[in-house]
Amino acid sequence: MYICVDFDGTLVDHRYPEIGEPVPGAMGWLKKLQRYGAKIILFTMRGDDPERRNVLQEAVVYLQKNGVELYGINRNPDQDSWTNSPKAYGEVYVDDSAFGCPLIDVKGFSRPCVDWKKVGPHLEHMCLSRR
Ligand SMILES: [Mg+2]
Repeated sequence: MYICVDFDGTLVDHRYPEIGEPVPGAMGWLKKLQRYGAKIILFTMRGDDPERRNVLQEAVVYLQKNGVELYGINRNPDQDSWTNSPKAYGEVYVDDSAFGCPLIDVKGFSRPCVDWKKVGPHLEHMCLSRR
């Protein structure tokens, strides 16, 4: 299953261009979902600017260091054969800005972030039911 995940406010506290503290449960759930065969695609507004700062690459490295193996970065490498759409194909999108996404307030965080206690089990169910 292809899961597109946003970065700021979804996996880490929103401190752009810095990288905030990890959102509770986010890394653990991503690694668990990967063990179920989920293909994680980072789907973020972060972009690299060689003349200033490579904030996208910083996010990618951060995730790698946390054991998250990305299947794609702002694109799904498997969709080229059937579409030339610029939107990365995912079966589900997790984004703190998405309508309906469960959010929590975490003490010390800059704004509400994704509630992985709700999102994680739902994605787990989706992964397991598609195997
Ligand atoms: Mg966000």
